[in-house]
Amino acid sequence: MSTPPVHAPMSQFAVREGELLVNGWPLRRLAERVGRTPFYAYDRGLLGARVAELRAALPAAVKLHYAMKANPMPALVAFMAQRVDGVDVASAGELRVALDAGADPREISFAGPGKGEAELRQAVAAGVLVNVESERELPLLAGTAQSLGLPARVALRVNPDFELKGSGMRMGGGAKPFGIDAERLPAVLRGLQREGLAFEGFHLFAGSQNLKAEAICEAQRLSYALALRLAEHAPSPVRVLNLGGGFGIPYFPGEQRLDLAPIGDNLRQLVERAARELPQAVLVLELGRYLVGEAGVYVARVLERKVSRGQAFLITDGGLHHHLSASGNFGQVLRKNYPVALGTRMGEAAVENASVVGPLCTPLDLLAERMALPAAQAGDLVVVFQSGAYGASASPQGFLSHPGCVEVLV
Ligand SMILES: *Cc1c(COP(=O)(O)O)cnc(C)c1O
Repeated sequence: MSTPPVHAPMSQFAVREGELLVNGWPLRRLAERVGRTPFYAYDRGLLGARVAELRAALPAAVKLHYAMKANPMPALVAFMAQRVDGVDVASAGELRVALDAGADPREISFAGPGKGEAELRQAVAAGVLVNVESERELPLLAGTAQSLGLPARVALRVNPDFELKGSGMRMGGGAKPFGIDAERLPAVLRGLQREGLAFEGFHLFAGSQNLKAEAICEAQRLSYALALRLAEHAPSPVRVLNLGGGFGIPYFPGEQRLDLAPIGDNLRQLVERAARELPQAVLVLELGRYLVGEAGVYVARVLERKVSRGQAFLITDGGLHHHLSASGNFGQVLRKNYPVALGTRMGEAAVENASVVGPLCTPLDLLAERMALPAAQAGDLVVVFQSGAYGASASPQGFLSHPGCVEVLV
């Protein structure tokens, strides 16, 4: 067999003498430093470069928030909090990590359906912006504001009357548990004069994992236009317009990297319009996956190379209990392989199609199916790329009672 084409998603990591480097650390040495496998490693250099790349492509007036649901590792959140303009949290637990990380409460927003009274109380006490997802939350917030003697900062999450085209996961448009239906909002805004509620603006988040710049631009234009219409009913000027994000990263062969240039141009036009039409408003983007996904790898050790009726299996100590997404069970309709390589044999010619599996007693525990790989031996380190988002925290670590995974920021 010939050498496999290098998947574009791997090329952000350097290689030295056949070994993958994570921010300069050779993989074997990194594994020794971590002390055990499997582990996730997040590369500070790549995280910082991604923020810088976005800043260069987007207008300076647009604020960049990190949606920490994508990766809530405390050290990573602290690293990101110093580089972005704000942090979006989706639970009281995430709120605590964001505050510990040093994020400015004025620049934290709290989204998520089903916020409980206790969570809302924590949010008001912390002074963060609450992205209200249902009419039920409003009287709870007003009561909390009164009982704490503090204002409740409120943005209304809008379930828009359009959908994000080409999105991997739709979270707006049609019937959704997220946000308040756009057509209900004029009445809700009129009733917003409750004591203690400080209206700040709107939040729209149409969907996730989109690689089509034009679809993202269209969603941003439609979101802006909808917010402008709704602003007429608002009790005070819009100060925050969170246009969501949904920027995707390439995972599978044939997927193209998102083109930021048209998104930057589109946002420049929206910033100009907003300066005239919503002069007090700041435009915000909230990104999770795009900021951190490509900076992370999941590393597992080959325990055994087993051949069953001519088919090679690399049985590793890592699997779906740590990396549900790579197993194809986190939102994929048809399972496709994440980019996977032997981090200890980079550049070696592929000799066989081997399936990389984990130690769980279920056929779902598959990290790569019939992947063209070099000749692996027990002890080699398998690397799953594009693993910085929706990895450890999005996986059922308790399933089958194997040890949990370690995460390091390198
Ligand atoms: C999940 C989520 C995000 C992050 O989405 P990504 O696709 O990871 O960028 C942002 N905002 C809200 C409200 C979310 O629920």
